[in-house]
Amino acid sequence: MKAVRIYGEKDVRVEDVTIDDPKDDEVQVRVKYCGICGSDLHAYLEGWGLPTQPYPLTGKTVPITLGHEFSGEVVKVGKDVDTLKIGDDVAIEPLIACGKCENCRKGDYNFCNNAVAADGAGNFLGFSQDGGFAEFANVQGVFAHKLPEGMDPELGAVAEPTAVVYEAVKRSGLREGENVAVMGAGPIGLLMALLAKISGANKVYIVDVSKVRLAKAKELGIENTINPSEEDVNEVIRKDLLNGVDITFECAGVQATFDTALKVTKRTGTLQVVALFGKDVSMNMTDDVIMQGINITTTLCYNNSFPAVLGIINNHPDTFRKIITKEIGLDQDVDEGIKALAEDKSQVKILVSPDL
Ligand SMILES: [Zn+2]
Ligand SMILES: [Zn+2]
Repeated sequence: MKAVRIYGEKDVRVEDVTIDDPKDDEVQVRVKYCGICGSDLHAYLEGWGLPTQPYPLTGKTVPITLGHEFSGEVVKVGKDVDTLKIGDDVAIEPLIACGKCENCRKGDYNFCNNAVAADGAGNFLGFSQDGGFAEFANVQGVFAHKLPEGMDPELGAVAEPTAVVYEAVKRSGLREGENVAVMGAGPIGLLMALLAKISGANKVYIVDVSKVRLAKAKELGIENTINPSEEDVNEVIRKDLLNGVDITFECAGVQATFDTALKVTKRTGTLQVVALFGKDVSMNMTDDVIMQGINITTTLCYNNSFPAVLGIINNHPDTFRKIITKEIGLDQDVDEGIKALAEDKSQVKILVSPDL
């Protein structure tokens, strides 16, 4: 079968490989769609998250088949999997976890203690186990979630990034009627703003320096866009909301946006960190955090969220379809996919399909 495999920094090859039968606790899926993520770009540009030595739970090292945001059809079922049958359409939750450690047992399997690698390799399919930029993939049955009846598999491929922002909503404690700000209008920021609206937020502000991205936000129905290179974000928000927003979702991950996030969040509000930060950030802990009663909370991946997320997407198919901006084949994955995502700010979710 054809697979897009990464060997290291800037070394991705489309190759013909063989795939084993699924193990007893696995299913084999014929991949239908697989989204390209910012982390695929970091893996490509910097070799970020790739196993350079055997990964603890999988024993894998590069080369690895990239791709972790995928949907497909079950074509083979391991003998211990009794929840799925051949022909089922599924969305893949791409985590790698042992299922036995303290964190796995309490449901925090995204923090599996046995999925920590000395070289920082990611606990994900597409990083430390072969992923979805291929014609077929073997995945654990428990991580293959059946799509709601009649749901388009294109939308199934959007479940993974939506699960990221769903987890952020959970962690933030967002309730109907609260006001939120979202820093950054990249793919995750846009999904974050959409999900905040769906979750019942009153006002949703989205902040980005890119006009193209803010235009995209408007297209998705997020009316309150703010460009910090043109306006003072805090002033704009406080004109409407004297005390600031209840929750700020930090989806950009740089010092400047973190500073703004602290400023626009109301006293006793929540600053929910969603982005990964490339550099250290500093803050005035006493004056700007403690004395304001700001809760800074973080989130990483998701757990026990996929069924809920698939339901949400299936209830708002037209909205989520709008974030899919391009579809390409496996051969175009790097040039028209991963690189386009880096260079073209009008792209939100680029889907790769082996059928194209
Ligand atoms: Zn992703
Ligand atoms: Zn574990």
